[in-house]
Amino acid sequence: MNIALIAHDKKKELMVQFCIAYCGILAKHNLCATATTGKLISEATGLVIDRYLSGQQGGDQQIGARIAYNEIDMVVFLRDVNSFGNEPDVDAMIRLCDEQNIPIATNLATAEMLVLGLARGDLDWRELVRKK
Ligand code: PGA
Repeated sequence: MNIALIAHDKKKELMVQFCIAYCGILAKHNLCATATTGKLISEATGLVIDRYLSGQQGGDQQIGARIAYNEIDMVVFLRDVNSFGNEPDVDAMIRLCDEQNIPIATNLATAEMLVLGLARGDLDWRELVRKK
């Protein structure tokens, strides 16, 4: 599965902890992330991550474009709801995911459910609908 990981600054440590906790599951999949999020995760876990631009520079849109093409199977976007100006990025990402029926988690509890479902094979149907 192709999994996208993004975290706003205040949630980056949480994202790293999440990836450490579920490293064994995540390592079996293709991971991509925005620049800083990906750097921090790979430094902490050794996971191989394709890194896009930073969120500020358009990394969200790069991942969004892959979502629009139905190339991404699951998104974890840990957002900081208290930081002004972030909402349009998250809203756009959710909209694109809804368009393609791609699961997206914006908080840790949902992210854990998704990653456990991923390990159980709950997202295997994505193999059939994903664009190659
Ligand atoms: P970053 O981008 O991982 O490069 O910080 C994510 C964001 O801040 O939206």
